[in-house]
Amino acid sequence: MIVTGRDIHGDLRIETEVCVIGSGAGGAVMAKELREAGLEVVVLEEGGHFTRADFNREPFDMTRLMYRDGGATATIGFPPVLLPLGRTVGGSTTINSGTCFRTPDYVLDRWERELGLADTSPRTMERFFDRVEKIQKIGEVREELIGRNAELVRRGAQRLGYSHGTLKRNVNENCRGCGVCCFGCPSDAKMGMHLTYIPAGVGLGMKVYAHCRVERLAMRDGRLESVEGTVLDAVTRRPKHRLHVRARVFVLSGGTIMTPYLLLRNGLFNSSGQVGRNLTIHPAVRVQALFDEDVYGWRGVPQSYFVDQFKDLGIMMEGAHGPPSLMCTSVPFIGRKYADLLARIRNLAAFGVMVSDTTRGRVHAWARRPVMIYQINRYDTDRLAKGLLELSRIFFAAGAREVYPTLHNLPILRSPDELVKLERMKIKRRFLEMSAFHPLGTCRMGKDPRTSVVDTYGKVHDAKNAFISDGSIFPTSLGVNPQETIMAFSTRNAEYLAHNFRRFANA
Ligand SMILES: Cc1cc2nc3c(=O)[nH]c(=O)nc-3n(C[C@H](O)[C@H](O)[C@H](O)COP(=O)(O)OP(=O)(O)OC[C@H]3O[C@@H](n4cnc5c(N)ncnc54)[C@H](O)[C@@H]3O)c2cc1C
Ligand code: SF4
Repeated sequence: MIVTGRDIHGDLRIETEVCVIGSGAGGAVMAKELREAGLEVVVLEEGGHFTRADFNREPFDMTRLMYRDGGATATIGFPPVLLPLGRTVGGSTTINSGTCFRTPDYVLDRWERELGLADTSPRTMERFFDRVEKIQKIGEVREELIGRNAELVRRGAQRLGYSHGTLKRNVNENCRGCGVCCFGCPSDAKMGMHLTYIPAGVGLGMKVYAHCRVERLAMRDGRLESVEGTVLDAVTRRPKHRLHVRARVFVLSGGTIMTPYLLLRNGLFNSSGQVGRNLTIHPAVRVQALFDEDVYGWRGVPQSYFVDQFKDLGIMMEGAHGPPSLMCTSVPFIGRKYADLLARIRNLAAFGVMVSDTTRGRVHAWARRPVMIYQINRYDTDRLAKGLLELSRIFFAAGAREVYPTLHNLPILRSPDELVKLERMKIKRRFLEMSAFHPLGTCRMGKDPRTSVVDTYGKVHDAKNAFISDGSIFPTSLGVNPQETIMAFSTRNAEYLAHNFRRFANA
């Protein structure tokens, strides 16, 4: 059963065994796995419930509908970083690009060996990745869907001898490369949580309440006893009714920004002082390039290809094209030059670079909204600069006429010889135009309650019956797109919680 604000006509009072707050990669997997283990599960989701009937392929309509702040969420720093977040049933998985990676072995090894996190080794995690990959239909993008944009990058990488390959995604056979994955897949091909774990859980009797925002957490004797919040109007999103849920166990899955925000607002689970700290985001920049040939970069899967030649430096390059109405807003320059380039938008290729960041940001609960402070450090800036240089090199090797590294002080490169300029430049962070899509780390897991918020299974150190299951628990940056990691750890932690349910419920 999925109930939305439209169906709720009075204050809502619910009692259940498990209440999961948030329905994204962490929450939906946890909820469905617990329901499958026989527990009574209720999911509360602040966003609405949207299906392919609502997905009109228009980026601006869809960001208004399914993104927090209409897609304009950003960090505060110099420069600010655009950090969009999903707010809908399925969370960010409904509006993401669909790229999937297992957590790299060296990351898992580090967590187990250096941070002492039990049961996180690649061997232990293998069966959880297998399970997620089967349910999510994860496989390589079919050759006929990779698109000209990726073919050009492949050509450039091949000529330079750089390591590259086709990405894996969670899609079914209906993907036809229409290019609007981040705005709701109109073919129901991309396997967001709204199409996989949520309906599977609902089929087993799980209840999902959309337009239900949790605001207050009530503790008693070290237990999270109930949560309160607001039922929002389905159209205006104005407060409509009150919400009160009692549960034996709670799982917080609001995501890396909203979970610490909720905890900080309530002054809870922060004896370590770590709630909201340790924010990593995989900061990313984009390079565009003008070709004489047609690219039509919006045809095909936008994120279908990667170049991982510099992965030892924590640098990853992945497809970053989008529909023309969106690309228009990111074409560099103004005035005449902008108009000329816009007229040639079908000749423009675009690719992104992200780094596994060593910078640590912080989420605060100032005023009535989360505030993210993120000031990128010199080391991460230098690696983004290296990424811009190498991606520009790849585009020239592929035959680009001009390359635009999206730098305020060097907006255009006209020949491969000019790469030297980029190489010699000490790029200042203020010249970067950054965005980020992978916030992690703000309620990190750890052995020691003095330095972490949850244990290795996501159990909150400061509460007897509360867990966190979302991107916030990961103690370091991953270097690869995180959704499969979040899903696999949720699967593992759901198994642990289901086995030990009575212990936590009666604690
Ligand atoms: C545009 C975009 C593209 C991306 N592309 C990829 C990709 O290709 N591959 C990849 O691996 N990752 C990608 N990501 C990131 C990935 O989608 C996220 O890392 C992942 O979904 C995070 O899972 P989560 O459970 O932590 O949070 P989310 O999936 O964001 O879910 C959190 C949910 O909790 C709800 N919520 C928050 N607070 C409350 C509250 N108080 N009460 C009720 N509900 C609440 C939110 O509305 C939201 O729906 C992308 C992200 C974006 C934004
Ligand atoms: S490219 Fe494939 S997954 Fe993306 S929106 Fe189109 S059909 Fe869906």
